[in-house]
Amino acid sequence: MRTEIILPPEEMPRKWYNIVPDLPEPLPPPKDPEEGESRLDFLSKVLIGECLKQEMSQERWVDIPEGIMELYEQAGRPRQLFRARRLEKYLNTPARMYYKAEFYSPTGSHKVNTALAQAYYAKKEGFERVTTETGAGQWGTALAYAARLCDLECTVYWVRAVYNWKRDRRSFMEMYGAKVYASPSDKTEVGRELLKEDPEHVGSLGIAISEGLEDAEGDPNAVYTLGSVLNHVLMHQTIIGQETKKQFELIDEYPDVVISCIGGGSNFGGFAIPFYHDLLKKKKEIHFIAAQSEASPNLQGKYRYDFADHAEKTPMLKMYTLGHQVKMVPIKGDGLRYHGCSPILSLLRHKGMLDTIAYPPDEEYVFKKAQMFVQKEGFLPAPESAYSVCCAIDEALKCKRNNEEKVIAFNVSGHGLLDLEGYQEVLKF
Ligand SMILES: *Cc1c(COP(=O)(O)O)cnc(C)c1O
Repeated sequence: MRTEIILPPEEMPRKWYNIVPDLPEPLPPPKDPEEGESRLDFLSKVLIGECLKQEMSQERWVDIPEGIMELYEQAGRPRQLFRARRLEKYLNTPARMYYKAEFYSPTGSHKVNTALAQAYYAKKEGFERVTTETGAGQWGTALAYAARLCDLECTVYWVRAVYNWKRDRRSFMEMYGAKVYASPSDKTEVGRELLKEDPEHVGSLGIAISEGLEDAEGDPNAVYTLGSVLNHVLMHQTIIGQETKKQFELIDEYPDVVISCIGGGSNFGGFAIPFYHDLLKKKKEIHFIAAQSEASPNLQGKYRYDFADHAEKTPMLKMYTLGHQVKMVPIKGDGLRYHGCSPILSLLRHKGMLDTIAYPPDEEYVFKKAQMFVQKEGFLPAPESAYSVCCAIDEALKCKRNNEEKVIAFNVSGHGLLDLEGYQEVLKF
């Protein structure tokens, strides 16, 4: 009876899986709005060439370059799969629960899997600097780390409202040598305009995206990067689910239920897409569940073309969306607060292959389950990952009521060691 399922380094998958050619119908392509300049042309000017190519690719398996394999190993891959034996016992459930340990990431989340790939390609294409925006801060930290390992400079525009209170995470990015600016900043035209109106402007992800884009556009040595939503980002993340499948093979198990949290869709996609391959190609029966917040239940929105950002600088994507200028209440699981869901996962949802649950925005229900997890398993999930943990526990309790021996697989996308203030506030200790 194994508790920690370890994949030897030589078993690490050597290709990313691109699900696009296997989808039940063609993926609607990004498009320009009817009016205004071409966003498609603009985006192709500021993105990494190889990533743009991968974004449009119909190739099913894409070789992971040796240099990126080395970076993955440096980052501690493969990561463990754990059987949640103590939690099962406490819940007294007949279900068998397994969780993937993305929280062992050096920066605290799964986002390093694509940050490393993007930084590697940026360096190879001769760029000297990467720019980006960050909301909760996990993406900014992952990119700061990856840029440093690939010998690149890194500029992060961080939504001021979050920048102001997450001092430790800011220091973490600065330890890696990144330049971190509160957004709106005085470094860009967009930022300066907004600061004129209000010098303490709290900012938004949309504004920060505009700043990152403007910065990269104005410097031929800089390139802009994105941490979720897009096809190539989900493809880089498939390393998670491919490892997990091999780990299940090692112990002769196979999941009935696959769960994770969804903001833009990169950790859920990375974890679940290799299992969707089995559903689509091998007719496996798997129940996929996305855990979300009622503050941003994007999978319950409308399936239509919408902008990916507030300022309408990006092309339009066919996705489940709440509207690109929707107002959302703040939550501690800030990484889940995004108006749209990745086009790939949106299509799967549209085809009835992805279930979703949204939890109340006060987060007490979710964080109590996270506390149960930390007390039984010992690992502190990131506030976003707490949603995945909560959903897995709820499913295990359902198995108990129905006396079902299901195998539940869930991803713990990050750790919460820099997010304790959030837990404290909600759980009031
Ligand atoms: C960013 C983030 C998420 C949400 O983003 P996805 O693109 O949906 O994965 C979830 N968990 C953690 C730890 C994150 O940093």
